[in-house]
Amino acid sequence: MLKKADGGRKLRPATAMVHRGTMRSGFGETSEALFLTQGFVYDSAEAAEARFKGEEPGFIYSRYANPTTRMFEERMMALEGAEDARATASGMAAVAAAMQCQVTAGDHVVAARALFGSCRYVVETVLARCGVACTLIDGRDLDAWRAAVRPETKVFFLESPTNPTLEVIDIAAVAEIAHAAGARLVVDNVFATPMQQRPLELGADVVVYSATKHIDGQGRCLGGIVLSSKNWIDEYLHDYFRHTGPSLSPFNAWTLLKGLETLPLRVAHQTRSAARIADFLIERQEIAKVLYPGRADHPDADVIVRQMSGGSTLLAFEVNGGKRAAFAFSNALEIILISNNLGDAKSLITHPATTTHKNLSPEARAELGISDGLLRLSVGLEDVEDLMEDLEGALTAVR
Ligand SMILES: *Cc1c(COP(=O)(O)O)cnc(C)c1O
Repeated sequence: MLKKADGGRKLRPATAMVHRGTMRSGFGETSEALFLTQGFVYDSAEAAEARFKGEEPGFIYSRYANPTTRMFEERMMALEGAEDARATASGMAAVAAAMQCQVTAGDHVVAARALFGSCRYVVETVLARCGVACTLIDGRDLDAWRAAVRPETKVFFLESPTNPTLEVIDIAAVAEIAHAAGARLVVDNVFATPMQQRPLELGADVVVYSATKHIDGQGRCLGGIVLSSKNWIDEYLHDYFRHTGPSLSPFNAWTLLKGLETLPLRVAHQTRSAARIADFLIERQEIAKVLYPGRADHPDADVIVRQMSGGSTLLAFEVNGGKRAAFAFSNALEIILISNNLGDAKSLITHPATTTHKNLSPEARAELGISDGLLRLSVGLEDVEDLMEDLEGALTAVR
């Protein structure tokens, strides 16, 4: 039998991430059990009938829910302060499900244009094919949100801090505009992590994550999650999720559960290192600018003070000399790896203009501030002194 281990008391995040959601079997295992099973059996035909009618609690089929996956969902719910959640096979499965489940042909969506590339494809292309129109705006311009609203607007969508320029959007203000328009706000909170920004408390209706990033944090598996009120999940996501099958595998859920145990420690360490690196780079003549949400010179510093509890594990900076210099710098790094991923234990550097954002037109890139010299650095768990020596060496190479 599965026993819930938590007594229901309020736990601080570091404690919650070690204990919350654990359901112990009769064996009394210490670690969360991995239930690699597709289905479940019933004691009698009557029990199966009762389970299907929803009159008896329990699992039916792992596409709907699985004990290990549920433990991951409940641990995330505790962290986010959400009433319910559904874990998905990837971050994009979470975004696609969260958007598609609540719109029908004729509806309209407003989204901040600085979006992760695949998210932009979902709102611009996938939704359009289903007859849902989308208006892309500058998310930091509150008047642009107001001006984009139509009678049929159902959903607002944004990401903050944004990829790769780390712009920060005022979530509370956008939520207010959404609600005044009778729409709901969905926030992709990947860059902030649940440790640094809590969109539901700021008024968002739905939060989505790619758990592939900081939540795993060790580069092992893909995963995602959609968190919201019980009402929203029951009304919009529950049936959509069961019948379209974006479910997370129990094995990956188990990996992510173990990731959550160390999430608070990792994010705190990586943020401290990123802040030191930002201060170090800004002093260098080879660097034209540094964008770091923890610095007072960030363009959105006033919003950041109000809505985020920490800086970021990521920073963006522009190397003088354009693409040639950015490539020379990246190639000269010895510890920091060239990769488009983020939130990993290993520090990773990306040249957005030629990788993650190569599909945008040069005009669209310029609009987002993605110049040819821009690099995005995801700071890992290494000793920050080693990282700074590595960056120092690469700066010599571009001079
Ligand atoms: C990575 C990422 C996603 C997509 O997540 P996957 O797990 O790769 O599918 C969505 N949004 C943001 C902001 C991301 O960084």
